[in-house]
Order: sequence, then C-alpha cells, then structure tokens
Amino acid sequence: SLKAANGYAPLNDDFDSFYTRRLKRRLDDCFARVTTGVPGRFITLLDRKSDDQNRSYQYTGTTTQTLNMSSYNYLGFAQSDGPCATAVEETVRKYGLGFCSPRADAGTSDLVIDVEREIAAFVGKPAAMVFSMGFVTNASSFPALVSKGCLIISDELNHSSIRIGARFSGAMIKSFKHNNMADLEKKLREAISQGQPRTHRPWKKILVAVEGLYSMEGNLVDLPSLVALKKKYKFYLYVDEAHSIGALGPRGRGVCDYFNIDPSEIDILMGTLTKSFGANGGYVAAEKHIIDKLRSTNVATALGESPAPSVLMQILTSLKLITGELVPGQGEERLQRIAFNSRYLRLGLKRLGFIVYGHDDSPIIPVVLYNPGKMKSFSEEMLKRKISIVIVGYPATPLISSRARFCISSAHNKDDLDWLLAACDEVGDILQLKYSTGIAGGL
Ligand code: PMP
Repeated sequence: SLKAANGYAPLNDDFDSFYTRRLKRRLDDCFARVTTGVPGRFITLLDRKSDDQNRSYQYTGTTTQTLNMSSYNYLGFAQSDGPCATAVEETVRKYGLGFCSPRADAGTSDLVIDVEREIAAFVGKPAAMVFSMGFVTNASSFPALVSKGCLIISDELNHSSIRIGARFSGAMIKSFKHNNMADLEKKLREAISQGQPRTHRPWKKILVAVEGLYSMEGNLVDLPSLVALKKKYKFYLYVDEAHSIGALGPRGRGVCDYFNIDPSEIDILMGTLTKSFGANGGYVAAEKHIIDKLRSTNVATALGESPAPSVLMQILTSLKLITGELVPGQGEERLQRIAFNSRYLRLGLKRLGFIVYGHDDSPIIPVVLYNPGKMKSFSEEMLKRKISIVIVGYPATPLISSRARFCISSAHNKDDLDWLLAACDEVGDILQLKYSTGIAGGL
C-alpha cells in the first residue's frame, strides 16, 4: 500500500481500494457538474468538456437549461420570485446575513422563536428546536438523547447522519432489516431478554430510529406497525422526516398526517428544512421537557451558529403558504400537484417496462439500472435530452442495484413528465433497461 514521505499511510489512503476508486470517479463527476441559478422546475448547468478519461473538466462558458428531476424541491419553494423571495429580501435588509453568534450567546432572535413555534404547531408537537444544518440535527441530537448503557435499534438503511449521531452517542447500536417489523420485533425481544438477573430492562433507554420516507428506496416507513410495537415493547421512537415533511399527507405534515396517526405517539419528530421548504437546516420537535434538555445539551445549537435570518424567513413564509395562512388554497394546490405527479410518473415508468422501487405516493422514484456500468451512460443520455437526474450506486446502494432517481416537485407539470417519459422510453431501449414486461391499462 502507499506510504507518505513521513512513513505513515497517506491522508487520502481511503481512495486506494477498487471500489472507492470507482466512487471517487463518480463523485468527481458529480462535483464537476456545476449548476447556476435556482434549482426549480428547470436547472441550468455549466457546459463542460472532459478529457478522454473523464479525469478533468473544462467549462466552455456556455450553459444549458435542463428539466430538473434531481433536486428535493418537493413543493416548489426553490424560487427566486414570489412571496418567499420578497420576504427573504426584506429580511436581509433588516437583519443582514448572519447572527454572528450561537443560540447560547446572542443568536436567539425573534425569527428563531417564531420558526420554532410554527414548526411545532405544524408537526403537532408542543415544542421544537431548529438547527443550521439537517445533517448536524441528527449527528448532534442522538448524543443529547442517549448515551452509554442505552440501546439504539436503527433501520439498516438509515441516513448516514443518523448513523454518525448514533455512534457519537456512545450507546450500543443494533440494526434491523429495512422496514421489516418482524425483524425489529426479534431485535427488541433479544434486547430485552439480555437483562441482568431480575432486571426487567437491561438498557437505560431503548431508542428505535427510522426515516419517514427512505430517499434511496422511495419507501414509506410502516408507521402503524411501528406504533403498535412501541405500545407492546415501550421503546422511544425517533422518526427522521427529511423527505416526508411537506411532501406527504393530505396537509403535508409528514408520515403522521399520511397514516392518520397522532404525533404524540412518536417521541422525536426530526426533519430537514432543505427540501420541502426550499431553505436550509433541520428541526427536532418533541415534548417541551425534551426540547429543554436538547437546548442545553445539544452542542450544535448551544455552540454552533444560529440559522441565518434569510433562511428562517424562507422557512416561515413557506410554512405559511403550505398551511394556507398566507394565500388560501395555495398549499393545497401544491400538495395535490406533487401527489398527482408522483403517481403519474411512477405508473408511466412501470408501463414502459422499468423496474421502479418504492411506494406509490413517494415523490422519490428510483428506477433500477442493475448494471453499474449503465449509470453514467443513463445520466449522459438523459442530459443529451436536456434532463437532469441523479444516479446512485455503491456504496449508497448494493453494487447490483445501481439506480437512477427522479425527484418529483409540485413545480413540474404533466408536460414535463411526458417529456421525461418519452426520454426514458428512448434511453431505456438504447441501454436495454426495460427489465419488466410492463403493466396494462390507461393512466
Ligand atoms: N436525514 C436524511 C434522511 C437525509 O436524506 C438527509 C440529506 N438528504 C439529511 C438527514 C441531512 O439533511 P441536510 O441535507 O438538510 O443537511
């Protein structure tokens, strides 16, 4: 293996192996795919040329507008005009760009308080706390909630921010098969029976961590079964709603809204503000005593920078648009549009003969390519047809289930989706991706 001049392994030695070398090439390609402007219904890419081996890229100075199927802009709030943009502009003039301070010093503004109150009300919890980054919300909240002597039982496909938070906490971590409630029950039984003699519960706390909507699979959590298990085994439940908040449920209030489950059944409702709200950051919503504890023990908010004023205003305004408080009916319209678009595209792809993963109502639509070698070609063929998509493969997915993902937005219309379906039809034939015989029937 490689050695640096000082005799140690080089700091970049992780890129030594066969698999990570492939990953690096793919990441280099992604990082070099530079966009400019708003990631809305369309996204503009800087045109580029690569050398023969795709190792370096040069930008030609021109741009191409593409249909954007690659951003998590579920409700279309990634915009540079409209009520959010106006409110944000005014906020920048009034507050500037940053608070220049963590919450525990001088970073607790009226805007932060307003956003926390509105988020708590939106998700149906007594209190909430906001963070500057969604990733850090998970990474820093687990250590504030559980520690050594506790057990975290985590869905095997949970996002890396959950896994990192779980590791930081010092708790014992076990995983259960993805969304498999029988396996979770097995893990719970094993965990409880591992107790010391005469100790009913060997763990200080058991926390089960799941996501509302899994972004690689397009799967919804089986929340009704999970809540039934929670009643039986009495664990704490943490649900990451990064992809489900705003995007699911008749009122856009996530998986509780979707399954008609009272939010009080879930201990921690976490979400990100980067996706449905077109903003930045994350939140945790829970009972007031839990949020009070988080306020003092979560290092990211106590000691890290408070979310930017403009970001807070974007969250506040988009929330008021979703609930209809600002423009009656607009939230409903966006929610109906994303629900229609998700079902329309999924059904259209299946009818063409693609293997599509996930739940019918998921706005993330993964199409399985199987062969990792087809990932780059698929993305390039779509780009030739002026469509931007995301491809994902190992290690985010198993090597043989490499996939393309289409991210639906309420900003898309039916013509956009028909354009995408026509492109998939052509590219599917060129790359031989229609693995299923399709389904019959009209849309
Ligand atoms: N949780 C999940 C489930 C995610 O998918 C992501 C990122 N996509 C995050 C947390 C991190 O959120 P952010 O991108 O807002 O930092």
